[in-house]
Amino acid sequence: MSAALVTGASRGIGRGIALALAGAGFDVVVNYASNAAAAAEVAAEVEKRGAKAAVVHADLAQSADRARLVEEAYAAFGDIELLVNNAGVAPSVRADILEAGEESFDRLVGINLKGPYFLTQLVANRMIAAGTAGRIVTISSMSAYTASVNRGDYCVTKAGLSMLTKLYAARLAEHGINVYEVRPGIIATDMTGGVKEKYDRLIHEEGVTPIRRWGTPEDVGKAVVAIATDLFPFSTGQVIDVDGGFHLR
Ligand code: NDP
Repeated sequence: MSAALVTGASRGIGRGIALALAGAGFDVVVNYASNAAAAAEVAAEVEKRGAKAAVVHADLAQSADRARLVEEAYAAFGDIELLVNNAGVAPSVRADILEAGEESFDRLVGINLKGPYFLTQLVANRMIAAGTAGRIVTISSMSAYTASVNRGDYCVTKAGLSMLTKLYAARLAEHGINVYEVRPGIIATDMTGGVKEKYDRLIHEEGVTPIRRWGTPEDVGKAVVAIATDLFPFSTGQVIDVDGGFHLR
């Protein structure tokens, strides 16, 4: 059985990805930051699908935590064939780019960009050393290309993930490791729960998502399974939009 490491797998999109991968026959490392009970519930669901789960607490903004996460992942399953950089946070308060402070910027860069940048480095080096023809998927956002001036910190981290994908795709191709960026649209999770009414209006009345429904974590999970099961063997550095057509607007 192959094994996957999914960051931020305790809730939302990461949970959906972990369960979809388990359903496709992957053992799963379930990483979380603070919600141990939710991570344990995901692990139990993974096991119900006949796969193994290892729960690992790690704050991705912390270098020592990233290193321990990788050590514990390899200790649990021997090899990791798939890394999914999913964990991410939105700003707790939106602020105009002319006034936004550094604290939120530093927090978002640490978790959303620096975390995956160096976690990918660690896992890529392990894949190369083990001769693993691995796959690496990074969850970015339509915020990678949409200029939302009241949450610029979030947008720059997601745009950075697009370049992260290209850089690692270019560097790792010779080692048989393919790298992909998955861009979800508006997905129903805790992250969007606080702005549900606004997004309901945008989706159902204004049609910003041409397929007029909320996306689900399962929608994103299916795209990751397609990558993980090697349905795109001759594609790397590729963007896959899972956004109900949002990018068409
Ligand atoms: P949620 O807020 O529902 O879940 C976030 C997950 O990330 C949780 O598992 C959380 O763990 C984990 N996490 C947060 N901080 C850290 C950290 N420092 N280290 C490790 N894990 C951490 O978010 P979503 O599921 O909505 O989002 C997942 C990803 O998808 C994010 O990168 C987000 O930017 C992106 N995205 C989301 C969209 C949406 O509409 N929801 C749209 C486009 C992209 P814990 O449970 O322990 O707090």
